[in-house]
Amino acid sequence: MKVAVFSTKAYDRQFLDLENRESQANHELVYFEARLEPKTASLATGFEAVCVFVNDDLGTETLEILAKDGTKLIALRCTGFNNVNLESAAKLGIKVVRVTTYSPYSVAEHAVGLILMLNRKLYRAYNRVRDDNFSLDGLLGFDLRDRTVGVIGTGKIGQIFAQIMAGFGCHLLGYDAYPNENFEKMGNAKYVSLEELWQRSDIISLHCPLLPETKNLINQEAISQMKQGVMLINTSRGKLVDTKAVIEGIKTGKIGYVGIDVYEEEEHLFFEDLSDTIIQDDTFQLLQSFSNVVITAHQAFFTENALKDISHTTIANLTDFEQGKPLQNEVK
Ligand code: NAD
Repeated sequence: MKVAVFSTKAYDRQFLDLENRESQANHELVYFEARLEPKTASLATGFEAVCVFVNDDLGTETLEILAKDGTKLIALRCTGFNNVNLESAAKLGIKVVRVTTYSPYSVAEHAVGLILMLNRKLYRAYNRVRDDNFSLDGLLGFDLRDRTVGVIGTGKIGQIFAQIMAGFGCHLLGYDAYPNENFEKMGNAKYVSLEELWQRSDIISLHCPLLPETKNLINQEAISQMKQGVMLINTSRGKLVDTKAVIEGIKTGKIGYVGIDVYEEEEHLFFEDLSDTIIQDDTFQLLQSFSNVVITAHQAFFTENALKDISHTTIANLTDFEQGKPLQNEVK
């Protein structure tokens, strides 16, 4: 099948080509570096399928162009599908498939990495030592043992994250719209209301999907209920957080540490080398400027294990569609 693959980098091509060969699927994968959006959608003319990633824009306008030009399938190379207008896709007769699961360890371990960066100030220590500055002033950290960690969204990633934090000797509070009995089977883990989680957590980590009801979950009102000096970790989706409210929280000292792998307006920044340009996003620049903020550019998924899993499921999804088989990973 002819597939227009958008937002591709060398690593995407490497893993998808390998899987396409090894599985003998032999799809005709045509790679575009461009992000899919209304102005690039015509690149997919004549392609039965498009394959996209987290920051491609599959709103109604893009979908209408795709449908007119013959696209019947959208294959997401990610778990989240918040960037697709599912209602419009259904109306236009375009099916949507995703990668329901890939190494959840990749994201969970990255969230833990951000915590360790922040609580021991490793990012500052690394730069100092390279500069022959061996002073410890300003690097004072805290033990994770006996700290309370709030986990919002106790699905695949949230549970693994919770297990790792339990290994550090942390107490775990969970919040989930659909609680899962396995979470409380872990020693030291308990489901609580969102209010109790805000009030009792030393560290809060987001692992729920971006939905209309979770948009700006971390807002001014939630922050006002949190402990003084709380640490916020977001490896889920940028729009779960009202960044301006977080900046205010940092300025007042309410928020002591922020570690994020995702950002509200990341589609204009992440995955590109912009080091020679002037960044126009003042909110992002202000956030970056604080010494207690660590930002990575949506790399939590970026392990060999996860890329292999993503390629495997994506090629299988394309093959199922081509062969008219039931679509196991369809998003409805
Ligand atoms: P999952 O579906 O296994 O778990 C999500 C959990 O969130 C479920 O338990 C679900 O019940 C819960 N949930 C749903 N609605 C909720 C609500 N309103 N409030 C609280 N919890 C709610 O998904 P997962 O594989 O664990 O992934 C979690 C999220 O991580 C994804 O939605 C995605 O946004 C993000 N993610 C980020 C990266 C990255 O590279 N940074 C990579 C993969 C996934």
